[in-house]
Amino acid sequence: MRAAVIGAGPAGLMAAEALVARGVAADIYDSMPSFGRKFLMAGKSGLNISHAEDREAFLSRYRGDARLQDMVRAFGPGEITDWMAALGIAAHTGPTGRVFPETMKASPLLRAWLVRLQAAGAALHARHRWQGWDGSGALLFGTPEGEVTARPDVTVLALGGASWKRLGSDGAWAPLLDAKGIALAPFGPSNCGFLVDWSDHMRKKFAGAPVKAVRLSADGVETRSEFVITQRGVESGGIYTLSAALVDELQRAGAATLFVDLLPDTDLPVIAGKLARPRGKQSMANHLRKSLGLSGVKLALLHEAAGGALPGETGALARLIKAVPIRITGTAPLDEAISTTGGVAWAALDDALMLRGLPGVFCAGEMIDWDAPTGGYLITACLATGKAAGEGAADWLQASSR
Ligand SMILES: Cc1cc2nc3c(=O)[nH]c(=O)nc-3n(C[C@H](O)[C@H](O)[C@H](O)COP(=O)(O)OP(=O)(O)OC[C@H]3O[C@@H](n4cnc5c(N)ncnc54)[C@H](O)[C@@H]3O)c2cc1C
Repeated sequence: MRAAVIGAGPAGLMAAEALVARGVAADIYDSMPSFGRKFLMAGKSGLNISHAEDREAFLSRYRGDARLQDMVRAFGPGEITDWMAALGIAAHTGPTGRVFPETMKASPLLRAWLVRLQAAGAALHARHRWQGWDGSGALLFGTPEGEVTARPDVTVLALGGASWKRLGSDGAWAPLLDAKGIALAPFGPSNCGFLVDWSDHMRKKFAGAPVKAVRLSADGVETRSEFVITQRGVESGGIYTLSAALVDELQRAGAATLFVDLLPDTDLPVIAGKLARPRGKQSMANHLRKSLGLSGVKLALLHEAAGGALPGETGALARLIKAVPIRITGTAPLDEAISTTGGVAWAALDDALMLRGLPGVFCAGEMIDWDAPTGGYLITACLATGKAAGEGAADWLQASSR
């Protein structure tokens, strides 16, 4: 019995692992010259592989089908920690519950994983770009040596989303499944940057500036975090946490508003009281800096929101400081998003993640239509769906060989 797993990101590798654990030899194909490029990129500033927190809070981070929650319940932070330990990589949990490999980078983990997979019966085929099926139903790959075909007993597709194309996940698989009548949701950006029509002053002086220790809110969701001003708008940190809320509001209303509380630890009356103190000959900028510690990019955000001069009345200025509105006009380009929504619709999949319209073909990872914030939730769901698809494929092989 042989399985083909196409896509060597965390989802595909986990599917292959589940298959070889059940005694099914797996051929793992990827279009890129080496495996797990997005996984390695995710590890560049610390591979946040999962998130240890209260089970209900953890499950509530996922948007998609209830089956996804069952899968991350079955293979969540605890299981991922054990799985890493078996690969010789200890886990480190940060103060906010983020789980990382102790080595922080993804490369030692990926190296150990590929060695173990090969020892267990997986064969790795880089530079194999899947192009669909040929007329006889065989898998068709483009390789530097020309086209090759494969006729596995079962197939797992784990082709990723549609962002960061240079790492391999280009979404070019979507028309191949669409042609087979598989229901797909359009790709959309998630955990992405957003566009803001900044003034020239803001763009020139503050693009690249971090805005630290603020509370951000949008559409009823809030987070204590920081973010970065960009030439085109805002991104990173708390912006990713709010990205689903901002995207929803953009889709509903055509524009969205991000509110920034510049002093989340100070109540409004206290701010108003400090502002009301006589400032003598001091400029307003000096008064804000000395009485409230507001200067630089935070002061610039106040001016930007006020459209120039700040409100003279202390109550109005205090309210602005607690909720600086930033008008969001759109999302940054899809290819720059940390993850994408859309892809294979849950309705097209059975409970084992097999495509109802293509028996023997399973799907896993970001190519399925679900969403989650950054913080380790993305890779967790990729590993969990990879495991479910691999086990589903092994069960299906077993049942069909009876
Ligand atoms: C900068 C960055 C930082 C991130 N940080 C984190 C983080 O800290 N924590 C977290 O949880 N998530 C993070 N993510 C998201 C996470 O990396 C992805 O959600 C995850 O890698 C998706 O896994 P996957 O296996 O579904 O797909 P991918 O990892 O995208 O793998 C899909 C594979 O399929 C291959 N492929 C695609 N099409 C074909 C084809 N036609 N033929 C053959 N092969 C094909 C690709 O080359 C690729 O190797 C980050 C993402 C980015 C971009």
